[in-house]
Amino acid sequence: MFPTAIAGSLPKPAWLAETHKLWPRWKADGAERAQAQRDATLLWIKTQEDAGLAVIGDGEMSRQHFVHGFLEQVEGIDFEHKVEMGIRADRYKAMVPQVVAPLRLKGRVHEAEARLLRAHTTRRTKFTLPGPMTIVDTVADRFYGDRVKMAFAFAELLNQEARALQADGIDVIQFDEPAFNVYMAEAADWGVKALERAAAGLTCTTAVHICYGYGIEANIAWKQTLGGQWRHYEQVFPALAASRIDQVSLECIHSHVPPELMALLQGKDVMVGVIDVASDEVETPEEVAATIATALRHVPRERLIACTNCGMAPMDRAIAEAKLRALVEGAALASARAG
Ligand code: ZN
Repeated sequence: MFPTAIAGSLPKPAWLAETHKLWPRWKADGAERAQAQRDATLLWIKTQEDAGLAVIGDGEMSRQHFVHGFLEQVEGIDFEHKVEMGIRADRYKAMVPQVVAPLRLKGRVHEAEARLLRAHTTRRTKFTLPGPMTIVDTVADRFYGDRVKMAFAFAELLNQEARALQADGIDVIQFDEPAFNVYMAEAADWGVKALERAAAGLTCTTAVHICYGYGIEANIAWKQTLGGQWRHYEQVFPALAASRIDQVSLECIHSHVPPELMALLQGKDVMVGVIDVASDEVETPEEVAATIATALRHVPRERLIACTNCGMAPMDRAIAEAKLRALVEGAALASARAG
């Protein structure tokens, strides 16, 4: 049976935060919000288990956004004075906090949700953190004056939290690096090294997720400019194949990524995106199985994990649930066909 997992985020229930938004406002503060986050995490653990997923995540219920959730626990960042910045090479504008002093962790970042996850499933667990290069692309620098230096400063902090997550019992720690698909030469040059620094000393499984972004308007419009063949992965995969990262999560279904680029990841587990997060149309198990069959031409069967293309945070909750079921049913169908 091909294992199944989500890339990371899941839709927040309406009683926790605004729905269908990438940067949703919370519905409550303080202890009430913490309780709602805990309730939502438990709900999604159960929903993933019921769908039949092999690897279970917390769905990122406790963070407003996949990057800023981590930054909120970092000293040296001014959240009071956010500034507008073009991110991912100006693909869209975001209000971002500013780095104003040396970076240090205030304490644990994700202890509560990691322990909650570990305590409530016996299946393998995955926890996501933003990658160093993507962080420096989602924050304004008023202190370091150098992207690489700042990325390695963040990598140190990520490493501290990643080691602690491993001690909490997490089985897979994944770093999300959509910026690798935007700054490909820099990613191959220093992005992968910063990533390895973030993962240094980990004995659990390590992973990196590289995608073409959430299914939001700006990303959908961007994809329409990328032409018939998306070869971004070609520049980064060789550096990743030579790295110590164990797994690579990539976008596949409904993308224009040439499937043969997966062959560049020799020696790595490949989390193949078989669920489109930019479309509300629920995949049929047949479509999922067909995508897996395509990937199997380039990835050894024991190295293939069926996954979503990206996070599902801005999606409709009922659609996300239906897509999780399609993911597992499609993987089962592909397994039966592969014998
Ligand atoms: Zn993604």
